[in-house]
Amino acid sequence: MSKYFAEPFKIKMVEPIRVLTREEREEKIKAANYNLFGLDSDDVYIDLLTDSGTGAMSSEQWSGVMKGDEAYSGSRSYKNLINSAKDIFAYEYIQPVHQGRAAEKVVMPLLLGPGKYAISNMHFDTTRAHVEIAGARAIDCVVPEALDTVSYSPFKGNMDIPRLKELIKEYGKENIGVIIITVTNNSAGGQPVSIENIRQTAEVARENGITVYIDAARFAENSYFIKMREKGYADKSIKEIAREMFSYADVFTMSAKKDAIINMGGLIGVKNDGEFFESVKANTIPFEGFISYGGLSGRDLEAMAIGLQEGVDINFLRYRIGQMEYLADKLEKEGIPFQSPVGGHAVFLDAKKLLPHIPYYEFPGHTLAVELYKEAGIRSVDIGSYMMGNNPDTGEQIESEFEFTRLAVPRRVYTQSHLDVIVEALIAIKKRADEITGYRITWEPKILRHFTAKLEPIKK
Ligand SMILES: *Cc1c(COP(=O)(O)O)cnc(C)c1O
Repeated sequence: MSKYFAEPFKIKMVEPIRVLTREEREEKIKAANYNLFGLDSDDVYIDLLTDSGTGAMSSEQWSGVMKGDEAYSGSRSYKNLINSAKDIFAYEYIQPVHQGRAAEKVVMPLLLGPGKYAISNMHFDTTRAHVEIAGARAIDCVVPEALDTVSYSPFKGNMDIPRLKELIKEYGKENIGVIIITVTNNSAGGQPVSIENIRQTAEVARENGITVYIDAARFAENSYFIKMREKGYADKSIKEIAREMFSYADVFTMSAKKDAIINMGGLIGVKNDGEFFESVKANTIPFEGFISYGGLSGRDLEAMAIGLQEGVDINFLRYRIGQMEYLADKLEKEGIPFQSPVGGHAVFLDAKKLLPHIPYYEFPGHTLAVELYKEAGIRSVDIGSYMMGNNPDTGEQIESEFEFTRLAVPRRVYTQSHLDVIVEALIAIKKRADEITGYRITWEPKILRHFTAKLEPIKK
C-alpha cells in the first residue's frame, strides 16, 4: 500500500457540494437520457469528467488575479508569464493563447499542408483535428506495451522508434511535416514518455530533417515520472528534467488547463527559430488577439505565470501522483480491474473485465459510468465503443479495443476521503455486477455522438 502523501496545502475557501439521495440521482440521470454530459454539475457529488481547467487555484494565483495588468500592450502580467515560462522551458520565444487547441490552430498550418503527415506517439483528439484541418494526415506510433492493460511497463507512452523509422521510409521524409511527442500520452491513459525515448525520437527526426514538436499539456507529471522511474534522474529537479525534455524539441504547444493549474489558457514555445516565431505571431494576431495577451485577460496571464511554477513543485507532484497511486492501490486490493500502472491524471477502469456479460454494443464503459453516478453521484466518462461511434461508411457500431470508464482527477480539488468514496462505490458495484444491464441508444447525432446521444437501459 503506497503511503498517501498528505496535501501540501490547507484549505482557505470551500465550495459546497451536494449529495442527492439514490432516488433523486435515478431521476436526474433518467431526465438526462442516461447521458452524463446532460447532468447539471450541481447534481454531481464528485466530478471526474475531466482534469482540464477544473483544478483549484492557490491563494498566490488568486492574488495574482487581483494584480493582473490589463494593458493591451506591454503588460506587466505578460512579462511575468514570459519570464516564468522561459525559466521552465528554456525557450527563446513564448506566445500565450487561450487554450491548447488555439495553439494547435496557430502552429499546425505552419508545419503541415495537403499531402503531408504528422507522426505522434498518440495524437490527442484536438491535435488530430488540427492536423486534418491543415490538410494533412495523422499517424499514431505508440509502443505495443500501451495496448496491454495488465503488465507493468514504466513508460507505456513511448514512441515506437523502429516503427517510426519504417513510417518515415514508407511515406518519405519530405512528406513528414512534424513528429509530435505527447507528454504524458493522454490517449494511452496518461502514460509517461521517457527522456531516453524523447532523445531517440529527436535523433531520428534530426537525421531526416523533421521538426520535433512536444504536446506539453502534462509535462510536469511526465517529468515527475521520469524522476521516479528513469535511471540517472532521481537526483535531478523537476525543472532540470523539464528543460532537458524540451531541449530535444524545436517547438511546443501546451494546454495550460492541466499542469499550469488554471481554468483557461495555453502556450506556444519556439526554441530558437526567430523566423518561425514571426509566423507564429502573424497567425496569433488574427486568431487570438495581440501577442501580449493572446486571447486571455491580464489576470489570466498572471495566474498562469504563477501556476506554471506551482505545477513543477516537487511536493505538489508527490501529492498529485500519490493520489493516483493511492486510488490505484486500493482498487487493486479490491480486485477492481484498471489500466496498470495508473497514469498521471486518470484511472482507466476496465469495464470489459468488470462487466464481462455486457457486449460492446451495449456499452460496458458507459454502463459503469452511469452505475457510478447512481451509486454515489460520481461523474466519469466512457472511453470505449460508446465514444467510438459508428463506422461512417457502413453505419455499424465500431468495436473498440478497450471498454474503459475514465476517472480523471482534478488538481488540488478532492481529498483522500473523496477517493475512499470512489473506491467504496466501486466495491458495491462489483458485488452486484452480474445484475447490471447495458444500454441502447434511442437517438444519436452523426458525429461526436457521445456528448448528446440519448440512451435507455436494456431490461432483462
Ligand atoms: C487538453 C489537451 C489538448 C487540448 O487542449 P485544450 O486546452 O483542451 O484546448 C491537447 N493535447 C493534449 C495532450 C491535451 O491533454
